[in-house]
Amino acid sequence: MFAFTEGDIRSSATSQSFARGQSYYHSGAVSALTLRGDQLTARVAGSDYESYRVNVALDQDGRIASASCTCPYDWGGYCKHIVTLRGGRKLAAPRTRYLPAAPARGRVGSLSRQFAGATRPQV
Ligand SMILES: [Zn+2]
Repeated sequence: MFAFTEGDIRSSATSQSFARGQSYYHSGAVSALTLRGDQLTARVAGSDYESYRVNVALDQDGRIASASCTCPYDWGGYCKHIVTLRGGRKLAAPRTRYLPAAPARGRVGSLSRQFAGATRPQV
């Protein structure tokens, strides 16, 4: 369960990132949210075609232990994608998936099998 607050995120983001993240949040940029054990993962739409993956590690109280994002933001504090998670507990929307702590690995295997089939040379 996550218990971090908007204040936790606000104190770790610049005011510019926070303002941008807020409008991102309201435009529905967070398309998938998964909580697996103490790892919260979100997919957040980017400014262009790309979407970014935000990873948040929670401590035992459900507060943020660390947060990272795959976007190139490097100007201090959290980027706007991390800020979209500012709602904390309120994010427990229907679109949140709660998975058991063990990571699922089956999908990568079946994808590579598909690729192997697709590249089979024609005789
Ligand atoms: Zn980001």
